[in-house]
Amino acid sequence: MKKHIFNIFLISILSIFIITGCTTVGASDFKTNPDNNEKNVQDSLPQKIEHAGSQGCGEETKTDQDKDVSAPIESDRNDENVDNNKESNTEEEGVKDKSNPENIATHYSGNGDQKLVALTFDDGPESELTPEILDILDEHDIKATFFVIGQNAARHTETLREIHDRGHEIGNHSWSHKYLPKISKRSKKDEILKTEELLEDVLGKHTPIFRPPYGAVKAQDKELIDSLGYKIVNWSVDTRDWAGTSGEQIMKYVKQQLKPGGIILMHNSGNTKTVKNMIKTLPTMINWIEEQGYEFVTVTEILD
Ligand SMILES: [Zn+2]
Repeated sequence: MKKHIFNIFLISILSIFIITGCTTVGASDFKTNPDNNEKNVQDSLPQKIEHAGSQGCGEETKTDQDKDVSAPIESDRNDENVDNNKESNTEEEGVKDKSNPENIATHYSGNGDQKLVALTFDDGPESELTPEILDILDEHDIKATFFVIGQNAARHTETLREIHDRGHEIGNHSWSHKYLPKISKRSKKDEILKTEELLEDVLGKHTPIFRPPYGAVKAQDKELIDSLGYKIVNWSVDTRDWAGTSGEQIMKYVKQQLKPGGIILMHNSGNTKTVKNMIKTLPTMINWIEEQGYEFVTVTEILD
């Protein structure tokens, strides 16, 4: 009898042990997916946020309705848990997105088969710097790409049209330059589609390239951007023009980072004083790049 009671006791203990063990395993599985993310746990992790270049697009923007969305101010995005190192290696060409199961690419450069280069100017248009840049480009007979902020384009539709009429490519750079990883999916969509609507109204066509503000994009957002018909385009050469970088230093960055297929990041909005250093240096930069045997093309051309 005593032995029988002992057996029941032993079985009970073992059952409790087994049940507890299972529960623990279940709990630890759940811990790996705290956001109950239906797709990929890694998508929800901050280190999976892409951020091109050490400063991204480098500009903190104002949302003041009375002003252009611009005003590049150095923004330290480290507080945003953005992985600054992952994408800061601008030496790498054609970096593939490794974090997204769909493998939707973020383009940092062309394939490098030919000595092609694409100049890109972000955050405009506006009425002072943009025309100056357009004149310089005309003087050298080269075409560039302008990633425009919808809100600015809405205020400067004439300049927008002029960029297009003078043969340059235009890309979507969101409506108000919000940091996409921190806003809702609905807002991201609005940011893209509102600009798209405006561009289509003014230019009469879809512009198939999108540059996320600050170059920051979460892996899961890529699906959204891709589904809206856009290629995601960042850059391989960061001039840091928005930060008041001297012409000499800008040239140093270009010489260090430029490789065939390179996409160069510059701005045509924001703090006029700081961006002016770039504009003053632009003819020198263009001449140097030409001397190296490069051909200037638009972003779409360099990605083809
Ligand atoms: Zn920007």
